[in-house]
Amino acid sequence: MRSSQSLIDAGRQTMSLSYNPRNVIMASGEGMYLTDREGNRYLDFVAGIAVNSLGYQHPKLTAAIQEQAAKVLHVSNIFWTEPQIRLQERLTSLSFGDRAYLCNSGAEAVEAAIKLARRFQHVVKKSPRFEVISFQKSFHGRTMGALSATGQPKYHKGFEPLVPGFVYAKYNDLDSVRACITEHTAAILVEPIQGEGGIIPATAEFLKGLRELCDQNGALLLFDEVQCGVGRTGNWFAYQDYQVVPDIMSLAKGLGGGVPIGAMIAKEAVAKAFTPGAHATTFGGNPLVSAAANAVLNAIEEESLLDRVKDTSKSMKEHALKLIAKYEGLIAFRGRGLMCGIEVNLGLLKPSDIETAARKEGLLINIAGGKVLRFVPPLIATTAHVEEAFRCLDNALKTLTD
Ligand code: PLP
Repeated sequence: MRSSQSLIDAGRQTMSLSYNPRNVIMASGEGMYLTDREGNRYLDFVAGIAVNSLGYQHPKLTAAIQEQAAKVLHVSNIFWTEPQIRLQERLTSLSFGDRAYLCNSGAEAVEAAIKLARRFQHVVKKSPRFEVISFQKSFHGRTMGALSATGQPKYHKGFEPLVPGFVYAKYNDLDSVRACITEHTAAILVEPIQGEGGIIPATAEFLKGLRELCDQNGALLLFDEVQCGVGRTGNWFAYQDYQVVPDIMSLAKGLGGGVPIGAMIAKEAVAKAFTPGAHATTFGGNPLVSAAANAVLNAIEEESLLDRVKDTSKSMKEHALKLIAKYEGLIAFRGRGLMCGIEVNLGLLKPSDIETAARKEGLLINIAGGKVLRFVPPLIATTAHVEEAFRCLDNALKTLTD
C-alpha cells in the first residue's frame, strides 16, 4: 500500500498550485466524524466549508444518490427529469421565489444573479443601468463576474482587468451605500452574513435599509446565501431571519449535502428577463444532484433540523463566550445559527496554530478572514457535539498557551 506521505507528495506535484491542503488524507466519514487514512477520527466543524449539511453517510442522502444513479445520472436541460422538477417546486415553495435556475456551484449561482439583474434592467426595464454595488470584505466566488463582485483586492491580484461595473461599499454602513448609488445602479449584492470575510452578520437595519434604497432607486436586491442559506441560521434562509425579502437569491454549498449544486432563485417579475437561451449550463440541475438536494431538504424537514440548529447554536455561543473569557488570545464571538466564529488576537495567537492544534485534539475547524476561527458544522450537530468540540478546542488552546 502506498504510504500517505508518498500519496501527498504525488498530490503536491500534480495539483493546481492554487490549493494547499493540510497534510492529511481523509478516507471516510460517518455522521459528524471524518476518518483519515491512518484511522484517526475527527469531529468535523468544517463540513467541507459549510457544505455537508447532513454530515457523512446520511442514510436518506446516500439512498437517494444510489437510487438515482441506478436510474439516470444526466440528460441535460433539453429534457425534463422528475427530481429537477421536484427540486424547483421545493425551492420556490420554501422561499420567496417563483423560479429557480439550477447550476453547479456558488460562483455560478452568483454569476447567474448578476446576469439576471443586468438583463432585467436592460430587457424588462429598458434601462441602461448596469452597475452592481457589492461590499468590502465580501466573497462571491472565483469566476470573473463573481470575482469582480468580491470586495477583497487580494483575490483580484493578477487577474485584472476585472469585469467593469462593480463598486464596493462598506458593509453595515448605509451612508457608504448611498454614496455609491448613481443612475447606473442596477443592483445591490450582499451576503446577509459575510462568510469568507470573517463571519460578519449584517444588522437588521442595514438589510432593511438596503431594501428601501433599492426600492427608491429602481435597483434589485440580491442576497448571496451560498454560505448562510439552507438551514444554517436556523431558518431555511437567512433572509427569513432578517425579514427582508430580496429580489434574487443565490444558494449552493449546503443545498446538495456534498454534491455540487447551486441555485439562483427569483421572483417572476424579475425571472422573466431570462428567455430561452439567455443563460444555461450543461449539468445544471441534473437528476443526480437534484435527487440529492431533494433528500437534503426532506431530511432537514423530517428531522426538524432547523429547530435543532437553534438549540445547538445557543450552546455554541455559550461555549465560545466561556472560552473567550478564559483565553486572552480570543477576542470576540461572531455569527448566527451554525455559522459562527471567534476572532483571534493576532498579537497573541496564530489562527493557523490553533487550527493545527485542534486537529491534533481531534477537531476540524478552519479560518475565515485571516483572524477568525470558523465553526460551520453539519446541521445534524447536537449540543453533545458542541461540548466535545469546545473540549478539544480548550485542550488545543492549553497546549498553545501553557
Ligand atoms: N458566495 C459565498 C457567500 C461563498 O461563501 C462562496 C464560497 O465560499 C461562494 C459564493 C462561491 O461558491 P463556490 O466556491 O461554490 O463557487
